[in-house]
Amino acid sequence: MQPAEATEISTVEPVTKPGSGRVRIAGLTVEFGKGEDRTIALAPTDLTLEPGTFTALIGPSGCGKSTLLNVVAGFTPLTEGSVRVDGRAVTGPHPSVGVIFQNFALFPWFTARGNVEFALKRFGLSKAERRARAMDALGEVGLAEHARKYPGQLSGGMKQRVAIARAFILEPDLVLADEPVASLDPQTSRVILGLLRSASQQHGATVLCSLHQVELATDFADR
Ligand code: ADP
Repeated sequence: MQPAEATEISTVEPVTKPGSGRVRIAGLTVEFGKGEDRTIALAPTDLTLEPGTFTALIGPSGCGKSTLLNVVAGFTPLTEGSVRVDGRAVTGPHPSVGVIFQNFALFPWFTARGNVEFALKRFGLSKAERRARAMDALGEVGLAEHARKYPGQLSGGMKQRVAIARAFILEPDLVLADEPVASLDPQTSRVILGLLRSASQQHGATVLCSLHQVELATDFADR
């Protein structure tokens, strides 16, 4: 692809309706199971995320970080309380919310470009436009030259770059990242968090990100 084409594509309208990315979580309680099997994964939790901010969730394993992220993403139903993104109650997965996982969650049978293109599948864009947008997104994370490689041919850091490109290609108002650097070495972790932060600033997305290390949180998060 010619660079001029990439520049042109980056200015086209987002495929989802833009909001501000404000999140209000009030009295959120999540329980799993019933009776003797009942687990309270989250006791009443209140949290407000201001638009465009980067918030890190820190806490020991099992304290409820993934549960909180999964409820905000719409993957897990809440038991009590409310979660609103730009005033809308979260009732299920929504394209204005991007997600990034520890294990990258890429399709092994698609190339890097194919994985990013796939996120655009249901928005009625032509194949050429999907491809151009995917190449633009991969260029943003420094992976344009590796677009034809399959996940099995990419390092962990490169896979997470693909996942970041895939998450931001829908111009999400909110990006949720569950331990995105837990399986990466310390140096790569810093590169990936830097990329995540700059992508969120460039696209104006709010970020909620669980992390293991307090020093990464203090270096990369606003809060
Ligand atoms: P963290 O991400 O901080 O490690 P989790 O949100 O994964 O914590 O888990 C919080 C608590 O909820 C743990 O006690 C965990 O065992 C429990 N839990 C999480 N998911 C489920 C589930 N699907 N069914 C039953 N218990 C669960």
